[in-house]
Amino acid sequence: MSRAVPPAVRERARARSCPDCRAAPGEKCAPDRAGRSQLHRGRIWDARRALEPMPPHRILPPRSDRMYMELDSTDADTLVVSWHKDALEALAAYPYEAAALLWLALKQAEVFRPDGPKTNNFGLALILMPIYFLTAGEVGEAVERLIARGFLERADEDSVYIDPVAIRVIGRRELSARFRMDWNAEKASAPVPGQLDEADGETSAG
Ligand SMILES: [Zn+2]
Repeated sequence: MSRAVPPAVRERARARSCPDCRAAPGEKCAPDRAGRSQLHRGRIWDARRALEPMPPHRILPPRSDRMYMELDSTDADTLVVSWHKDALEALAAYPYEAAALLWLALKQAEVFRPDGPKTNNFGLALILMPIYFLTAGEVGEAVERLIARGFLERADEDSVYIDPVAIRVIGRRELSARFRMDWNAEKASAPVPGQLDEADGETSAG
């Protein structure tokens, strides 16, 4: 059985960051324990994804189920990342896009300020992790793919709007209040997401 990686994919993989050993573009992957050189699997998968055509634009049904991830489970006033389940599912195989989208949403919520809120959510940290080793070019590429999907919209040369239906950051108290109410009645009367003031939705992508 042949497991050969096409030369174009290998070449592309070497030109990108390695999610397994954090080798920078153009750098070799860390050798394995026997000292042999190798190209890590994650790097090959990433190269394959990068060679795919742009993802199709999709309209997310606004009233669909959401996935909530608290920043800090010990804080009653913590912020909560609210994901559209379809968006989270669509990005499951595209960790760089998931990282970029989450990073933009948290940045918009000013989570990364020096006096920003604490976080202890391992799941969020895991989704976010690639952002800390990707090159600016790779983050830009992820942003372009998120724009193609419709999860982001280009505002100007270096900023984007985040579709609040895809992802938004809310206060936990806001969420608890919702859960205390009749969920169906709440859904029927909830304002349609996506009506966010454009100025509020603007975040620098750079
Ligand atoms: Zn590697």
